[in-house]
Amino acid sequence: MKRTVIEAVKTCARPVKRALELAIDNRLVDYHMPLEMPGDILITFDDGPHPEYTPLLLNLLDRYGVKAMFFVIGERAEKNPDLVKAYHEQGHIVANHTYSHLNDVAGARYSRDRVVEDINKCSDLVESTIGKATRQFRPPRGELNIKTWRAARDTDHSLMLWSIEGGEWGKRSDWSAEDISDFVTSNIKKRDILLLHDDNEKSLVVISDLLESLRKRKLDLNSAIESVR
Ligand SMILES: [Zn+2]
Repeated sequence: MKRTVIEAVKTCARPVKRALELAIDNRLVDYHMPLEMPGDILITFDDGPHPEYTPLLLNLLDRYGVKAMFFVIGERAEKNPDLVKAYHEQGHIVANHTYSHLNDVAGARYSRDRVVEDINKCSDLVESTIGKATRQFRPPRGELNIKTWRAARDTDHSLMLWSIEGGEWGKRSDWSAEDISDFVTSNIKKRDILLLHDDNEKSLVVISDLLESLRKRKLDLNSAIESVR
């Protein structure tokens, strides 16, 4: 039977358990929800805000009383300040996905200073819109290396990747919304960080099905967000 690291830690003897918990709690990047984070699942969206899909998504989340974390692209946030305010006013967390969605961010194309500048530009923009700077950073395409890690540290951001994704722009781009929805709904489990994108129609289908399913499973989707507010 496949077990997650978290579940495996629970079964260890006490001193081993403590040592493992410390190691996991102090890890440099969050793939799964950290042990100290309350709740069951953390829902995140990248690449917004989008003038057409973001309002529909916000309505849906509001209907279910669910909070999420939005890793915004600064350029899109600049064009849609009202939607950035709407994220914030509806209790979601606005996080950082760089200003210009630097592609190949981990490669040789961009210096660390350039990445730092792009993260700061996105954060400054968010701060001027909602009065609060960003605190979590997700590199475009999840490209993690020593440079993107240091850029996050230099700008005072924690790094957050994900443990399950819709893949609507990536590896499942040729799947139907229904197939992606089935995949996510049947594979998501406690301590997962879910990645979807609020700039496409498939995401709306996926999140709509998922919220209904998670409500039936009585999973806590909000405590994680509350803990990083
Ligand atoms: Zn992205």
